[in-house]
Amino acid sequence: MKTVEANGRRYRWMSEPLVVVCVDGCECDYLERAASSGRTPFIAGLLKAGTAYKADAVVPTFTNPNNLSIVTGVPPAVHGICGNYFYDREANAEVMMNDPKYLRAPTVLAAFADAGAKVAVVTAKDKLRKLLGHGLKGICFSSEKAAEATLAENGIENVVELVGMPVPSVYSAELSEFVFAAGVRLLETRRPDLMYLSTTDYVQHKCAPGSEGANAFYAMMDRYLAKLAGLGALIALTADHGMNSKTRADGSPDVIYLQDLLDGWIGAGRARVILPITDPYVVHHGALGSFATIYLHPSESELVRIRLADLEGIETALHNADACRRFELPPDRMGDLVVISKRHVVLGTSRARHDLSGLDAPLRSHGGLSEQTVPLLFSRNATIAEGRSLRNFDILDVSLNCIPALTARKAEDERIRLG
Ligand SMILES: [Zn+2]
Repeated sequence: MKTVEANGRRYRWMSEPLVVVCVDGCECDYLERAASSGRTPFIAGLLKAGTAYKADAVVPTFTNPNNLSIVTGVPPAVHGICGNYFYDREANAEVMMNDPKYLRAPTVLAAFADAGAKVAVVTAKDKLRKLLGHGLKGICFSSEKAAEATLAENGIENVVELVGMPVPSVYSAELSEFVFAAGVRLLETRRPDLMYLSTTDYVQHKCAPGSEGANAFYAMMDRYLAKLAGLGALIALTADHGMNSKTRADGSPDVIYLQDLLDGWIGAGRARVILPITDPYVVHHGALGSFATIYLHPSESELVRIRLADLEGIETALHNADACRRFELPPDRMGDLVVISKRHVVLGTSRARHDLSGLDAPLRSHGGLSEQTVPLLFSRNATIAEGRSLRNFDILDVSLNCIPALTARKAEDERIRLG
């Protein structure tokens, strides 16, 4: 049987097109509430059929570290992407980590393409595209920049005509719908062996599970998933992280401004707080998440750690080595301390550096341990070893190695069953 090896894991060749979906910010509750509303029959079927699991995402529970873990099959300690931002001590600069030069491991997608598989990647935001498509001989484009896709850069052109939908605003539910619509059209017209679809959490940042906005999003997604399955694909779905409300009882954001605190404790500018959630698109969360890393003088780090750990609203404060061991992070891209806040609390730098004027709904965000549990769903039965604790980045392993190959006859039956 043909297999492909990447980052120390071996994967069996797909016996039918495999569509891996990463639903950004998909707290498990979103699926359960949408299913019980009756508006997501396909997802409800998966939840009922015993092919739905819960898995642990990578901490920090942010988009890029988790998407990269999913496509490489390994934690950030191996692939190197542990946030949107890190502080480069040598260059004395805060740098964006969305350039593929920061990626330290090849993707499973690229490995399959090298072995001759037809591979396609569609992401909502362009910030992920270059990382996901690194070294990939295949199709890779974002909804955001769909109109600019070229054969040379993206392996495909005329995407907007193919999808038949106008390019949506970067702050919209439609940006994710475009991803699914593109997935369906690609499966219909080119039938990739392996497809990776990654959405954006614009809706999840605004709408709580069970709300009209959330249920409408999942009803939309459900229609496309059913179509993809109807076209004969195996569907595997997970999330990069969960999502929680981060507000006080009065609805205002519950923020601990770490830089202000540290400036008061040890002197202005003596410590540097980095929020790896920061990126060019911060309107919907004001760059506030539940994970921060702090650079400071070694002589001050234990005292500061103890004081932080004692603060109301802090889940844990760890030294670099302890945090990197526990969360499998690259030590050279983390600060001296790692700080994680509790479920409904977020971490900021200085109050003056956060523009919250764009927040038109009560703050919902992620980054901490409280957003680590995510769904892991498959459209066919998997055989998973008893006692195995699943990670979201096991999704390719389970899809390819733990679900029996589909024979031609069974594939036909399956298509009839799914209508
Ligand atoms: Zn995300």
